[in-house]
Amino acid sequence: MPLSHGRPYLAIPGPSVMPDRVLQAMHRPAPNIYTGALVEMVAGMVPDLKAVARTDGHVASYITNGHGAWEAALANTCAPGDKVLVLSTGRFGQGWAETARRMGVEVEVIEFGKRDTIDLNAAEDRLRRDPGHAIKAVLAVHVDTSSSVRNDIAGLRAAIDAAGHPALFMVDCVASLGCERFEMDAWGVDVMVSASQKGLMTPPGLGFVYFSEKAAAVRAAMERVSIYWDWTQRADPEQFYQFFGGTAPTHHLYGLREALTMLVHEEGVAAAWARHAKLARAIWSAMEAWADGGPMELNIQDRALRSHAVTAVRIGAPNGTALRDWLSESAGVTLGIGLGMAPPDDPAWHGFFRIGHMGHVNAHMVLGVLGTIEAGLVHLRIPHGPGALSAAAKEIAA
Ligand SMILES: *Cc1c(COP(=O)(O)O)cnc(C)c1O
Repeated sequence: MPLSHGRPYLAIPGPSVMPDRVLQAMHRPAPNIYTGALVEMVAGMVPDLKAVARTDGHVASYITNGHGAWEAALANTCAPGDKVLVLSTGRFGQGWAETARRMGVEVEVIEFGKRDTIDLNAAEDRLRRDPGHAIKAVLAVHVDTSSSVRNDIAGLRAAIDAAGHPALFMVDCVASLGCERFEMDAWGVDVMVSASQKGLMTPPGLGFVYFSEKAAAVRAAMERVSIYWDWTQRADPEQFYQFFGGTAPTHHLYGLREALTMLVHEEGVAAAWARHAKLARAIWSAMEAWADGGPMELNIQDRALRSHAVTAVRIGAPNGTALRDWLSESAGVTLGIGLGMAPPDDPAWHGFFRIGHMGHVNAHMVLGVLGTIEAGLVHLRIPHGPGALSAAAKEIAA
């Protein structure tokens, strides 16, 4: 009997759950885009966007998604023929590398695989072997959403400094911004890219590129940057239309304004990081209990390396797809597919799932996901260890 009627939980790692307040804020007529409330509202959002990233640097906003933000970051810093080093974990480092390649940038990838973090020593060694400083930028992903690994961004900065290398340090925080501790200035990040639909709890369609003074100087030395991707006017507009290089995404902005109010002014950014960490520990405790007596396995073994925003799970084919199907049909919960773990036409593809726990997520939602997963395991007769739900409850109660 389907027990799915009721409020659904889209527990995929982006787009994330949108708060009702965000949805309601968007439900209004089109505003004037030349003067008045919208113009003032957008200028007032800039400090909040910077607060989320812990930076006093610059932020440029685009009508785009994370892929567009990747391209925007590169367009302002790397000309065809320039060289970047991509420290790739999981799927998303490869995606950013491919974007750079297609822009004519020379790309060197060091691949750290689907179940591991960036090896800081390997990064430092490679930079030491570049005495002529041919590498213009080092690209890394903070949280890889496919493997659910979290890379050590502060450690990577230290590795770049230890090698004495002047490359720009560019970081993808699409999955982590607003969910995981990220200190752009303190960690010495020069360029950071993010998007609206994950920790920022707003529909897909807004991309953000943050940049430091050092990155601004690199931009200033570029021979040409397309007017649309150029971050200069977007970060420091003389006219309102320059924020978005044309008509502003008005309704997204109302939604984002509400989301930033919730995140920055009501909960607080550090409190949101702590909430994500605690909810993640509840999920891991349940997973580790199930794993002890069945095929379930966390993709990232070491707790210290796991994301607090997304959890990638291995459970063997066809259990992953069976569980996802059962949860969406019978319980109103949609889990994420495994991404980049096996080719889609390989039967092994059906052996993975992910839980998105980013943004507008609380204890009852996480306990609900875990409870319905347990029901699915029972229904599908997938072997699993006991005590998962009480382990999660203990973590929540602690
Ligand atoms: C979601 C995501 C992207 C891509 O964002 P789109 O909005 O889908 O283009 C890039 N990097 C990371 C780490 C992501 O999680």
